[in-house]
Amino acid sequence: MSATTLPQPYDPNNIFARIVRGEIPAKLVAQNNHALAFHDINPLAPVHVLVIPRGPYTDLLSFTQSASAVEVVEFWQLVREVAQQLELDHHGFRLISNCGSNGGQEVPHFHVHLLGGKTLGKMLPSL
Ligand code: AMP
Repeated sequence: MSATTLPQPYDPNNIFARIVRGEIPAKLVAQNNHALAFHDINPLAPVHVLVIPRGPYTDLLSFTQSASAVEVVEFWQLVREVAQQLELDHHGFRLISNCGSNGGQEVPHFHVHLLGGKTLGKMLPSL
């Protein structure tokens, strides 16, 4: 059993909150009123973009529990726009959201990884 209960309280000083506030730079791909997309600083595929809401949500659970309908819609619209803009819709892509300690989440601000640009292979090694 996991020791961590999700969702966790939001830390306003996490690195993505600082990107939203413009305190640290990011290589922006696209944005709208409620979400931002930027290149991952440590790419794991030829295309590796992070999409985040502007609002203070720790993870997928807190986002889906507390975000408004317009925030949720604009978040997923931005995911689609990035996939089309970077031509990931031509050959496919992978979408990942790490959640909590078992999920390996490093930055406690909800985000999805959009990965593509090559054949990505199996999702995880077999058990
Ligand atoms: P996760 O493990 O799902 O929390 O992933 C966090 C991701 O954020 C990692 O892939 C990092 O490489 C990425 N990352 C951390 N700091 C930055 C930054 N300043 N700009 C862009 N990506 C970052």
